[in-house]
Amino acid sequence: MSFIADRDNELHAENVALSRVAEKFGTPSFVYSRAALTAAFEDYDKAFGDHPHLICYAAKANSNLAILNVLAQLGSGFDIVSGGELKRVLAAGGDPRKIVFSGVGKSEAELRDGLAADILCFNVESESELTRLQRIAADMGRTARVSLRVNPDVDARTHPYISTGLRQNKFGVGFADALSLYRRAHQASNLEVRGIDCHIGSQLTELAPLAEAARKVVELLDQLTDEGISIEHVDFGGGLGIRYGEESPPSADEFVRMLVDTVGQRSLSIQIEPGRSIVGNAGILLTRVEYLKHGEEKNFVVVDAAMNDLMRPALYQAHHTIRPVRTSAATSATYDVVGPICETGDFLGQARTLAVQEGDLLAVMSAGAYAMSMSSNYNTRSRAAELIIDADAMHLVRKRESVEALYADETLLP
Ligand SMILES: *Cc1c(COP(=O)(O)O)cnc(C)c1O
Repeated sequence: MSFIADRDNELHAENVALSRVAEKFGTPSFVYSRAALTAAFEDYDKAFGDHPHLICYAAKANSNLAILNVLAQLGSGFDIVSGGELKRVLAAGGDPRKIVFSGVGKSEAELRDGLAADILCFNVESESELTRLQRIAADMGRTARVSLRVNPDVDARTHPYISTGLRQNKFGVGFADALSLYRRAHQASNLEVRGIDCHIGSQLTELAPLAEAARKVVELLDQLTDEGISIEHVDFGGGLGIRYGEESPPSADEFVRMLVDTVGQRSLSIQIEPGRSIVGNAGILLTRVEYLKHGEEKNFVVVDAAMNDLMRPALYQAHHTIRPVRTSAATSATYDVVGPICETGDFLGQARTLAVQEGDLLAVMSAGAYAMSMSSNYNTRSRAAELIIDADAMHLVRKRESVEALYADETLLP
């Protein structure tokens, strides 16, 4: 079921027409559907059935407090990659005992904050990090629960910038080193081995690489069990793709069933860290057409959203469907949809057939994930407002930034 869909010739989020959102809150704005977010979480949750599991939403996909809070209320855990995300998740009411901490560059302060909050598990990505974590845990008189992020050396067959499970990537520890590091962690004071973790990439549209990684991780798990190193959970990361256009990624159900089958009879809790597949299709970027510009070679729709709001097209050559909020009487033409920023890379879509007029509203679809969370203030542009639609209600969950706030922390020379 789609919670962002047409009704009476106009795109709605749940029961709210997007033109009403624009009237009340202006553009550009991110608009999310609470029901869509909830349904995406529950698809994963239901797929596990009775199997012990924990879904750790990857906060970096969209870390708005209200989004985190909705998920926390549904029982979600969280995968975090910085001390900043730790603070956000706690501020949003997330349970620290459902937080896993990933990332290759955790600082002293971040490890301390994680230990102080008594998080569920650190997903350790190197020998040096293990050494640092042990020292800090000893210093604080704590025990750090750890899992090693292993790099299964599989090709996720996605964009190279979001492929993370190849030998040459910076992430995780190689399989060859994993066993000896586990032995070390197992014997170390102040460390408690809890799990194994992997995450091979993002926007994966095939099951095969995920299945291959899962098989390799379970092989390692069996080796560890044979050595008397007991493992309580296995974390298969995130990465399941969504439909931006013509993709047909596996469903949450297919992904989870594959994991449950791979784990088989081993009595373990299964963890996953989905981000994009929970929030990506639960939101859109609402923008208004400022100008139509007919150039010698190309036509342009100049909109009030830009690469600072949505950098995926510029960063990953990513495709987002762009459509008018209302069907228009204008004649259609082929346009590049561009923002006001002084960069040729500032486009939201290229060569799109659209029937639009100046002043019309457009929706950039599938903009719930890696959009607002990657936004910037380039060109001294205020970040967009964020709204959650819940049935008939519109909730402003982040107001549009004021320009003054953008330079409030800057000072002139004496
Ligand atoms: C980014 C990330 C995720 C989430 O990936 P999605 O593709 O958004 O599901 C999960 N785990 C780790 C370690 C990550 O870095």
